Amino acid sequence: MIRHETLNPPIHIYPVNEWKIIETDFYARFLSQTETLFAIGNGYVGMRGNHDEGIPHSQAGTFINGFHETWPIVYNEGAFGFAQTGQTMLNVTDAKVFKLYVDDEPFFLPTASLQLFVRTLDMQEGILERNVLWETAAGKQVLIESKRLVSLQHRHVAAISYQVTILNADAPVVISSEVVGNQANQESVEDPQHAKGFRYKVLLPREHYAKKKRLMMTHRSHNSGMTMACAVDHLVDTEADYTCKSECDGELGKVVFSVKAKRGKPVQVFKFITYHTSRHATTTELATRAERTLDRVVSDGFAQLVAEQRGFMDDFWHRSDIYIRGNAEAAGRHKREIQQAMRWNLFQILQASGRTEGAGIPAKGVTGQTYEGHYFWDTEIYVIPFLIYTAPGIARNLLRFRYSMLEQARLRAQELNQKGALFPWRTINGEEASAYYAAGTAQYHINADIMYALKKYVEITDDKALLYNEGAEMLVETARMWEDLGFYSERKGGKFCIHGVTGPDEYTTVVNNNAYTNLMARENLLFAVKTVKEVFDTYPEQYETLKHRTKLQPEEIDAWQKAADNMYIPYDRKLGIHPQDEDFLELEKWDIKNTPREHFPLLLNYHPLVIYRHQVIKQADVVLAMLLLGNMFTDEQKKRNFEYYDPLTTGDSSLSACIQSIVATEVGESEIAMGYARYAVLMDLADIGGNMADGCHIASMGGTWMVGVYGFAGMRDYNGQITFDPKLPKYIEELRFPLQIRGQRLVVDITQTEAVYLLENGIYLEITHQGEMFHLKEGVPHKCKIRG
Ligand code: BGC
Repeated sequence: MIRHETLNPPIHIYPVNEWKIIETDFYARFLSQTETLFAIGNGYVGMRGNHDEGIPHSQAGTFINGFHETWPIVYNEGAFGFAQTGQTMLNVTDAKVFKLYVDDEPFFLPTASLQLFVRTLDMQEGILERNVLWETAAGKQVLIESKRLVSLQHRHVAAISYQVTILNADAPVVISSEVVGNQANQESVEDPQHAKGFRYKVLLPREHYAKKKRLMMTHRSHNSGMTMACAVDHLVDTEADYTCKSECDGELGKVVFSVKAKRGKPVQVFKFITYHTSRHATTTELATRAERTLDRVVSDGFAQLVAEQRGFMDDFWHRSDIYIRGNAEAAGRHKREIQQAMRWNLFQILQASGRTEGAGIPAKGVTGQTYEGHYFWDTEIYVIPFLIYTAPGIARNLLRFRYSMLEQARLRAQELNQKGALFPWRTINGEEASAYYAAGTAQYHINADIMYALKKYVEITDDKALLYNEGAEMLVETARMWEDLGFYSERKGGKFCIHGVTGPDEYTTVVNNNAYTNLMARENLLFAVKTVKEVFDTYPEQYETLKHRTKLQPEEIDAWQKAADNMYIPYDRKLGIHPQDEDFLELEKWDIKNTPREHFPLLLNYHPLVIYRHQVIKQADVVLAMLLLGNMFTDEQKKRNFEYYDPLTTGDSSLSACIQSIVATEVGESEIAMGYARYAVLMDLADIGGNMADGCHIASMGGTWMVGVYGFAGMRDYNGQITFDPKLPKYIEELRFPLQIRGQRLVVDITQTEAVYLLENGIYLEITHQGEMFHLKEGVPHKCKIRG
């Protein structure tokens, strides 16, 4: 439910700019939100947008994807098979800190007299910049210019340039560049989404030392035993005389520069930061790795990091930008805002996924600890589509990462009395970490979601190597799980039914025959049959390996086919809709219109039982199935389903608005589609859920790309066939974006009346526009009229 009256950030503080996020005034009130807004990261390291000097009571944070503590989940009433081990991504050693003293007076942003304050996230440069002019009580004018980046080119590296110039006098200046260990972790008992706090010291100090301008701090996590090294080094550029002292214990390291600053002469300190983490390596080994990284980047220098960052960003935007030209008349002053918001969303997906390598994408990326840094289906259903079409190598890594968890998924299936494998609903290390099974473990659809992403990936990239190796093995084990989980019900005319599962909508749990789950399971089964047969026919040796690894029996393949052919899909003839599950229509409808605004999200205001006995939906469920498997529905069914479910959907999950927008476009509800599109695109920038402070909603961000491509451009890619049915809302005059399809680059340019498809590089591509199929050749634009 949308809890904010306004969808717009205050424009006098955050003016709209298509490539930048700018803050023109320091407002302590927005501190935590702006820490998310100005967070930078590369998918491995994430730094919240804390001010360099540190401000108490903010939600400061530095995160390393996958670096976590484990802890025993305590149930007052446990039961067999409940998840046992909690996992929490930790807030790690903070290397961002610079403390500044002029005439021995500390610079403290909230109380300082500021003549100028501008903070800019430049999405073309990939750099966060802040310029402040501070007038000390003694009248000294101190210009502080800082630049911060988390390198996309160098996975383990971040860097800060901190420059101080006294404009109107000479003065003693002290710059203390610090590394602070033992950070606080997020804690809340009221909000189940929040992370767990710890009552003990989680990160235990190991080696630490100061060596000239270099600091090294290593830690080992108390229970998980994971190791980490954080190290920094410095270069100084100034004409003034200075001395430098350094010290470092297990909690605090400092390099203190004492400068006799001269009027108008800048003092510039470059801080190079590196993080290394491991499950196995010792802290001594990590310290050595950190030293090597620092040696390299210090010798390359800050300017080179900046240049490489720009190179990476240019390439990213070339592959991924969605250009939107708003219509001045219809969109008014919001004309450019949607462009800015879209780019910020895309930029955040990059920051969450760019260098994940060997890890997943946490629900909040590396911008916050909410959801404990866990990986959910968010990755496969909401983010991987974007990656498949813009950075397929990252999509591949993410799928291989799931494969690395297959053995644990097999054990989990056994624990739940099932054959095959069951992937965890939420996890970091491969074990199920959901302590609330009804809305967690019961979401068996995770298996089918991962296989759905695999299928799309293979169809769009043609990467048969991944499919026939890791893919086939995952397909066998997931198909096995479905065939074993369901049963042939006499009461349903011998149809294959799947009972006791939860679909994407977490407001109706542990149900029978959830339509989404059954449809997706069928797809999973059929894909397994097709793939295994392909391997058998074309690569007999590989088939032997597959058989060896999975103990596959040929009759199993027939059983999967039979289950798929007989899959029960709930359908109500009278209403002409697909009930969300077997009993959904029997429930009383929740009166959403008359529910006070402050009672949303319902999960924070009503006992689950109250919610579960009603027809009320947290997030798109059947409606999501209509996007993912739209070829299984008629146009009439889509319209009726949308009309039925839309008024029952609270949107209490940020994963909903984007999907509702796309399907609204498809069923011809253009105004509704635009409304949801705005919610999705502005979800964080306008703090629609009221929880932006906790970090970015990465799934919704992936969803905003889908709103452009699957929504307004009307692309569908069922079974790898690319079709378009563009329908731009009146607020948008032009929409343009690139897609990478089987190694070729397609650029799609859509206006209100016309679509132009250009194969910028490639040999041959077959696509369909509003039912008309044609072939594209390199460099020859194909223009098509858009029929209303
Ligand atoms: C949603 C899930 C989602 C999770 C993490 C929950 O609120 O209901 O679908 O996976 O958030 O984003």
